[in-house]
Amino acid sequence: MEKVHLLGFTEDEMKRFAREMGEAAFRGKQIFRWIWRGARDFSQMTDLPAGLREKLDETACIGCLDVLDVQEDEKDGTRKFLFGLEDGNTVEGVFMKYRYGNSMCVSSQVGCKMGCKFCASALGGFVRDLTAGEIADQILSAERYTGEKVNHVVVMGMGEPLDNYDNLSQFLRLLHEQGGKNMSYRNMTVSTSGIVPAIAMFADDFPQVNLAVSLHRLTDSGRNSIMPVNRKYPVDELLLAADRYTEKTGRRVTFEYALIDGENDREEDVELMIRKLRGKLCHVNLIPLNEVKETGLTGSSRRRAEEIAAALNSAGIPATVRRELGSKIDGACGQLRRKAQEKQLPKI
Ligand code: SAH
Repeated sequence: MEKVHLLGFTEDEMKRFAREMGEAAFRGKQIFRWIWRGARDFSQMTDLPAGLREKLDETACIGCLDVLDVQEDEKDGTRKFLFGLEDGNTVEGVFMKYRYGNSMCVSSQVGCKMGCKFCASALGGFVRDLTAGEIADQILSAERYTGEKVNHVVVMGMGEPLDNYDNLSQFLRLLHEQGGKNMSYRNMTVSTSGIVPAIAMFADDFPQVNLAVSLHRLTDSGRNSIMPVNRKYPVDELLLAADRYTEKTGRRVTFEYALIDGENDREEDVELMIRKLRGKLCHVNLIPLNEVKETGLTGSSRRRAEEIAAALNSAGIPATVRRELGSKIDGACGQLRRKAQEKQLPKI
């Protein structure tokens, strides 16, 4: 019999689970709280009767991720994790230290369907969605490994979160549970390549969660050539969806713009950005492209990135160049996993 994975349950679901086992609902509450305090084993749940702990051990499990590899940048404290899933697949998560607290970038799928030309996650194609528990476990595993707490979460690792909407929603709600991590929705950010109808749903369901949109180009022909999703949801529709999110939530949208040398960092690109983004409640996050050798694309220089940020700022569009964390251990999203696949890391 396959074991029930408890990490994906909200507190209410855990109470229901306890009742279905013939136990009192408050046992579910106890289990929920233990899990979110970092317990990995039922034997740690010392206020549960021994008989119940044994029964749980036979029928259920808590987390399901193994830490397969960690790369650390000693200078800035960034740790990049390669996690092994139960079925032998792998995903990445990154723990980052900022002045305002620790942030964790999590993956939402194994592989990705979106096919962006510059992205390492696209290279291996799509494998499967992650469950809410598997997304959450990236955070708990990183907290256990580092001994530190995660205060902010960005869903910007491998995968397209809005293409895995139900599991993403459950994950966001789980993080917000008062008896668990109790994270404010304002400390969560979801990044999308631009699935327009899902952005509208997201604005309705999670008006307090931050939205980041991966823009990268502002002409349809240009964006089509690097982001196939644009053929279905063209630039102007995407910008409109972002406007609606802002109207509905009152929140600033972050536009991510990975600078690719000679591709989207020319004067005409900057002019178009100014024309299309001026007046919006937004912030532009400029990221010199992380080079993925298979793509043949090169990142713009830091200097060019700073120039573009200055041009946007003087046109009244708030823009910054993303601080490079973990530059020594870097690799864009999906690169650690790719390297491991090349080395044929033994499957667990
Ligand atoms: N699928 C979602 C979230 C995952 S990607 C999305 O597209 O937003 C997270 C961010 O990293 C996106 O902005 C993506 O475009 C960007 N990205 C992917 N590959 C990159 C690379 N090689 N260099 C810089 N940014 C990259």
